[in-house]
Amino acid sequence: MTDFKRDGSHLSSYPPVEKWDDWVELDPEAWPRRVEKHYQLVPTVCFNCESACGLLAYVDKATGQVAKFEGNPKHPASRGRLCAKGPATITQIHDPDRILYPMKRSGPRGGGKWTRTSWDEVLETFGARIRKAFRENRGEEVMYHVGRPGQDHFMDRTTQAWGIDGHNSHTNVCSSSARFGYLLWHYTDRPSPDHANARFILLLSAHLESGHYFNPHAQRIIEGKMAGAKLAVMDPRLSNTASMADYWMPSYPGTEAAVLLAMAMVILGENRFDATFVKNWTNWEELEVDGFSAKGQSFEALIEALKRHYAKFTPEFAEKESGVKAEVIVKTAREIATAGSRFASHLWRGSSSGNLGGWQTARALMLLHVLTGSVGTPGGHSLSAWNKFVPQPFSDPPPQKRWNELLYPLEWPLCTHEMSPLLPHFLKEGRGRLEAYFTRVFNPVWTYPDGFSWIEMLRDEEKVGLHAALTPTWSETAWFADYVLPMGFSSERHDLMSQESYAGRWIGFRQPVLRVLQEREGKKFDYTYQANPGEVWEEDEFWINLSWAIDPDGSMGIRQWFESPYHPGQKLTVDEYYGWMFENSVPGLPEAAAKEGLKPLEYMRKYGAYEVTTDVYKLNEKPVAAAALSGSKVEANGVVTKEGKAVGVIVDGEPVVGYNTPSRKLELFSKTMADWQWPEFALPEYYRSHIHHSAQTASMGNGEDSDPDFDKRYVPLVEWPKDSNGEVYTLMPIFRLPHLIHTRSGNSKFLYEIAHKNPLWVNPVDAQKLGGIRTGDLLKVHTEIGFFVLHAWVTEGLAPGVVACSHHMGRWRLNQEDQLERMSSAWVNLQEVGKGQWKMRQISGVESYETSDPDTKRVWWSDAGVHQNLTFPVHPDPITGMHCWHQMVRVERAGADDRYGDIFVDTNLSFAVYQRWKALTRPAPGPGGLRRPLWIPRMRRPEGAAFYVSKKA
Ligand code: SF4
Repeated sequence: MTDFKRDGSHLSSYPPVEKWDDWVELDPEAWPRRVEKHYQLVPTVCFNCESACGLLAYVDKATGQVAKFEGNPKHPASRGRLCAKGPATITQIHDPDRILYPMKRSGPRGGGKWTRTSWDEVLETFGARIRKAFRENRGEEVMYHVGRPGQDHFMDRTTQAWGIDGHNSHTNVCSSSARFGYLLWHYTDRPSPDHANARFILLLSAHLESGHYFNPHAQRIIEGKMAGAKLAVMDPRLSNTASMADYWMPSYPGTEAAVLLAMAMVILGENRFDATFVKNWTNWEELEVDGFSAKGQSFEALIEALKRHYAKFTPEFAEKESGVKAEVIVKTAREIATAGSRFASHLWRGSSSGNLGGWQTARALMLLHVLTGSVGTPGGHSLSAWNKFVPQPFSDPPPQKRWNELLYPLEWPLCTHEMSPLLPHFLKEGRGRLEAYFTRVFNPVWTYPDGFSWIEMLRDEEKVGLHAALTPTWSETAWFADYVLPMGFSSERHDLMSQESYAGRWIGFRQPVLRVLQEREGKKFDYTYQANPGEVWEEDEFWINLSWAIDPDGSMGIRQWFESPYHPGQKLTVDEYYGWMFENSVPGLPEAAAKEGLKPLEYMRKYGAYEVTTDVYKLNEKPVAAAALSGSKVEANGVVTKEGKAVGVIVDGEPVVGYNTPSRKLELFSKTMADWQWPEFALPEYYRSHIHHSAQTASMGNGEDSDPDFDKRYVPLVEWPKDSNGEVYTLMPIFRLPHLIHTRSGNSKFLYEIAHKNPLWVNPVDAQKLGGIRTGDLLKVHTEIGFFVLHAWVTEGLAPGVVACSHHMGRWRLNQEDQLERMSSAWVNLQEVGKGQWKMRQISGVESYETSDPDTKRVWWSDAGVHQNLTFPVHPDPITGMHCWHQMVRVERAGADDRYGDIFVDTNLSFAVYQRWKALTRPAPGPGGLRRPLWIPRMRRPEGAAFYVSKKA
């Protein structure tokens, strides 16, 4: 194994692998006596965010229990380092309130009465219901809905083995907007910046402290900085990341694309772009804009056309829109040009997720990479597919024949992911129902906007026949389930993971620590739950067994996909599933294992990770393989095709593989957007978000738009409820705290002790406008569908005109006595005071309590925060389908009757807001009767015929 020392870290401070079987430390609790503790160290993978860092579980040999988690130095992405959430896994596995056995509701849904049941009963019940649905051709009524996937393909395999289009994700409340901006350029929908080798790094939002791939990226951003890279951060909030920056650009939310296009204009105007790269690697010859067609024109004419098209984006204009000083825009643009191919950036949520049209931020940011030629270069922007490795299992079920319109409806033909935030509204509109619904590490009642519409859906047994919440912890959503099924934390399950966290490809192996250790000692287990606490299952085994329960005799064609590749007809085991992949699908792993006299599975159990390659730069320039070239032809646009499929493109006279776009090049001009009724967005553009200040002015009754060049067709003006008062602000509700895990850290005493409040950030200028409010004063925040009441925090760390509130806090529970994450939740009274009118009031905040863990008696905080998401309506972007999180709100001092934590929502209003946003869409069918463009990726892609609404034209 490689020791990852390039960054100068002191690997000697980690236990060497040869001592992992008996690692000795002095017991700190015995100090000043020198009492030795002996540990066995077992690698696994953290499950507390998407980064998949390597953990080392320290199992106390005296107790046989995990005593702590530290970093795995053999993991190539995290290199032995963790954020606060990794080691906090210990508090989750030892949480005295955790769910240890499968539970079945024993009263009405949502009534809070549960009895323990058996896994056999769970499998029989779900197996029979699902079998019946499949036999009656109601496959689309079976849905798996995931929050944190934590694995790379087992569920793709499962839903496709079942023959259903039933995979739903959380991506449309998370990242689908940024993904769309990237995929239009280069098919792959995730960025993979090479921060460590960059000379200039531009971060949109707080990626140093809480971004996507947070810990692996943060280490490399700092490495880049230590090697001399400059750091710029565009964020309305003075985050910890911004405080580390050379340039903080506090842009008004939603105006980031204007700043980026102004930077592009500086680079174009000063002729500091990489002309060779742009000429060779963009589809510039296809560009048509403002009456100019590049076909047959010179490259120079194209550049002039671009300069004319973007002439509006002067630094001064961008300053007026964004508040970022023109001179800073010019200076950073010049620094980016100087960095050239070593310009790295990152954008994932933030601006993209907050705003109507937020995807344009990613598209405009990529324009800077294209102009500087920093795509696929050391220190530049890379494609996730180049830095991620997903091994293939021993067999793959065929794609499903069906198309589920609850997931991919006709109104959003270009959405990157399932339209999951709209599920309650779709069911309300009568578009379908669910017979069996699995929510997995997923808490939409809390994490999604419009949570009361989710409650209305989940409690309706006509709409949702049977609901199982697969979760390691209690949640507001699990409360409304029929079954709550405990699934393991990161040291209690198998998963295979890889992420595009640096310039290299790797796999990480999550494994059930106690099972692995006991198997080393010769003990045999049929299932992981036999070694886990209580009867906590791991999901792979659950899905294997459920598939057998659905199709016990194999007659439905499902069981075959869950049979052993080594012993036909026998049930697949996790050892066989992963062992086969490690033997056959991971280049170099069998050889690396053989060198140590190990089988590949043993090697992965020993080290927990494997680096596949670091040869990942400029993969677009790879020559087309000889076999693919043979019998191929070159189309007029230079694309090399074979049997009707593109296999490469001619660049500089050579056939190279290029990108997976229609032109096989980076698509500066998107014909797809033009063909699918959005011709105004064929190029990277900026248009105003739903929370732009012009829309704010209009919402106050003054319809003046400060810049008529921007088309207001895309701005669905807010309609305020009658009784909402106060000043109008933009609310940023999605910033993350570095040490909390959405709603999954509610049972972590380490993490909740660090943070447990989410006050409203208010600039002092606005505090004066609001009547001289001070930190701690109560404010009432009105949204389009209701209000919430919380404390103010007056701070200069936020631009005036904007208020902000972290999204983690405000957990609640309906019963006082139930053991539901009591250290993080308020006990509330929830009432439906009229049809669709919901009122929540906190009865008590957090209080100390007695459990087997003496620390629960020492809980000293009382604030559980306020659940703002309940008061947000859905805002589906008409193109990407992304929920646009930012809210236009009215803020006033709370009245005499208002209490901290009060919430009111009218779901009739939220349905009306949904209808207003839906009206902005331009529905399919598209060209040829297609539901969506064939080249755009789709989760769990069905077979080709399913893509057509009507017969192919
Ligand atoms: S960044 Fe933190 S939470 Fe995420 S995987 Fe790494 S250690 Fe775990």
